[in-house]
Amino acid sequence: MKVYKFGGASVKDAESVRNVAHIIEEYNDGELWVVVSAMGKTTNALESVLEAYRHQFENREQSVERIRTFHEDIMRDLFPFGENEVWNEVEDLFIQLKESLEQAPDTGHQAYAEVISIGELLSTHIVSAYLNSVGILNEWADARELICTDSRPEEAKVDLKKSQQRIQQHRNELITGGALHEEDELLVMTQGFIGSNGENVTTLGREGSDFTAGILAWSLDAQEVSIWKDVPGMLNADPKYFPKAQTIEKLSYKEAIELSYYGASVIHPKTLKPLQNKNIPLYVRSFNDPDKGGTLIHEDDSKDQDHTSYIFKQNQVLVSIIPTDFSFIMEDNLSEIFKAMSEQGLRANLVQNSALSLSICLDDKGQRVDDFRDSLSGSFRILYNQGLSLVTVRHYDEKTIQRLLEGREVLVEQRSRQTARYVVRGGFTLST
Ligand code: ASP
Ligand code: MG
Repeated sequence: MKVYKFGGASVKDAESVRNVAHIIEEYNDGELWVVVSAMGKTTNALESVLEAYRHQFENREQSVERIRTFHEDIMRDLFPFGENEVWNEVEDLFIQLKESLEQAPDTGHQAYAEVISIGELLSTHIVSAYLNSVGILNEWADARELICTDSRPEEAKVDLKKSQQRIQQHRNELITGGALHEEDELLVMTQGFIGSNGENVTTLGREGSDFTAGILAWSLDAQEVSIWKDVPGMLNADPKYFPKAQTIEKLSYKEAIELSYYGASVIHPKTLKPLQNKNIPLYVRSFNDPDKGGTLIHEDDSKDQDHTSYIFKQNQVLVSIIPTDFSFIMEDNLSEIFKAMSEQGLRANLVQNSALSLSICLDDKGQRVDDFRDSLSGSFRILYNQGLSLVTVRHYDEKTIQRLLEGREVLVEQRSRQTARYVVRGGFTLST
């Protein structure tokens, strides 16, 4: 049994959906569970729509219509010859979306999950119907019945054991219910990114569809997982900032976890742990060039040293916090500072402390950072630097570092044996 995950870019238009069908037909044999994200940039669009309804913006209804038109255009292209049940399913989802949006000012955080989850429900209904229409018979499964979480609507914590029971049970029901198609193979299609606390829908955090693939694979002891992407695999840098970025052929789970922890955005960081625990290999492959090998992430770490990897985080702020009573930075003020940060939904990308001050590098989330600073200003003096970048280099050597930092102002430096990290002023690219 295998798991395939297709992200938003792989289902962004009718042509891409046809390509998904081609990949499933061409590259898979045996039981397959397919996880699909929302189409194109639908999740971002739904987040904006939710904001528009929360603040009663005038264009709020048009912004929903744009999402509808986007999906209907794809359906018109995929199902040109008239009737398909999927039109009704999509219509129902838009009715549901409108209801959730209208209630959004009253339903608080829960509105987020209600609204945002519609993206994955739309995409999986459309892709599943298309596959069926071209003879790739599949079962649409509702991830809200498979992925069990706590009640946080925006970044719920998954109960792996409970999810595993549900998933295995669902699989058994499908098989006894006669869902095996050609050559006794089961093909299941489900939504990434969403789950349920038993009552309400929840989401696993942005880009969480990879994690869904990991949970399914772990639950069913998959042979392997493939994440199909618009890049040739995992690269040693983001080509946006480093045009000479190269594909990494093989790396260990441990190395991939480190890279995604430091901000390499190819795989959702939570995806790898369950796979590592069961030693299930993960392939990152290109849906544009499926014959290319892509990247294999597995147990063997013998190739980890072969690549120097660069992770650039732009638009950073460095907040330095100094107790006004000249006390030392100790456990009690640390816990106050981190509590204030998490209340604003902020995360530390790098932390450095000395006896009298603590410096934290974070994504510049505007108002939230301001609120964080304000909430501490009673007991601390705050210094603040904006317009910075955080660069992480794995498996560095001195020459690389010199070249990287030439002419840059470094505000913070942290080095361990394998990893060097720098907070520098200005944006960052690397041309050579
Ligand atoms: N659609 C969700 C997002 O864009 C989940 C995902 O793509 O993994 O964040
Ligand atoms: Mg996405």
